[in-house]
Amino acid sequence: MSEIFNMQSVSFEKVSQFLKERHEPDFRVKQWQQAFFKGKCLKFEDLTIFSEKLRADLIENFGERLHPVECATVESDEQACKYLLKMDDGARVECVYMKFHEGIKSLCISTQVGCPCACAFCATGGIGFKRNLTLDEILGQALYVAKTTEGIDRITVMGMGEALLNPNIFDALRCLTAPNMFGLSPQRISMSTVGNIEGIHAMTQKFPQVTLTFSLHFPEQSLREQWMPTAKKYALKDIFEALDEHVRVTKKKVYLAYMVIDGINNRPQDIAHLRQWIQERGDLAYLYHINLIPFHPIPNLNLAETPRATAIQLQKELERYGIEATVRQSFGKSIQGACGQLAAGYKKA
Ligand code: SF4
Repeated sequence: MSEIFNMQSVSFEKVSQFLKERHEPDFRVKQWQQAFFKGKCLKFEDLTIFSEKLRADLIENFGERLHPVECATVESDEQACKYLLKMDDGARVECVYMKFHEGIKSLCISTQVGCPCACAFCATGGIGFKRNLTLDEILGQALYVAKTTEGIDRITVMGMGEALLNPNIFDALRCLTAPNMFGLSPQRISMSTVGNIEGIHAMTQKFPQVTLTFSLHFPEQSLREQWMPTAKKYALKDIFEALDEHVRVTKKKVYLAYMVIDGINNRPQDIAHLRQWIQERGDLAYLYHINLIPFHPIPNLNLAETPRATAIQLQKELERYGIEATVRQSFGKSIQGACGQLAAGYKKA
């Protein structure tokens, strides 16, 4: 995992440096930052406040766009848009833009092309791992969607890939929160992990205010190992210890994502395991919140969709034991995105 923040590698920094080396006045640097991050500029040719010559020099040095991301397809309904984005090398990843009832606009971004974790319930896991997204590619998703929509209030890092396995994610968080770039409050960013313990520790130290979600899904160790191969490396007991440290240090809630697969992980014994994990947290238990997600079918996995009512029933049972739980808001079947459920269309594309 990268310990050094390599901000120089991001195109944004290179453009600022380029302008400084040309002895352009400081206000030019501010102008272009404003245009790209606060305004609607996506291409250098749109930077009409600059001279034609300066625009041409920028295009010659950096290409037409700031970030190597183009939209291949977009599917939308009233509440959500799912983008299939094409990277410069042809790789495709998905991101989902959602409008919540409260008016909040949220973007779920990807961090890897495919995923090495190979969770059995996940479409991305079925693709296999191709590569990490670069810093520019991670930021490019947010930049593209922010410029072509009503804007972004929140970012969730829960799309394709295990974010904490991509060393570029920490630089990306810096850029997303930097006032002269995206300027998002860290409280408005959520990070999801299948339980990468080194990554959880890094989040506690470097980004304590970013909301952490642990994709638990199976509260019994051996069942979890069957469905999520990374569970063999990271035992639930050790992950919960890392999460305890996180909530102790940050005093922030941690979320446990729980994809409800009817008949597989909503049996009485699953509820008993879940209760036990929460009870073992002792006086930190109130900082754990379970987010139930009804399972949505994926190709090549012969499992039926879990009705929302089934998830609500589980929620009520957990609440009877004093465990805080909610059922995630639904966004329509074609666009339903949980960690890794975004990529059903990837192979077709
Ligand atoms: S659920 Fe998340 S970590 Fe697991 S394979 Fe899918 S994208 Fe990777």
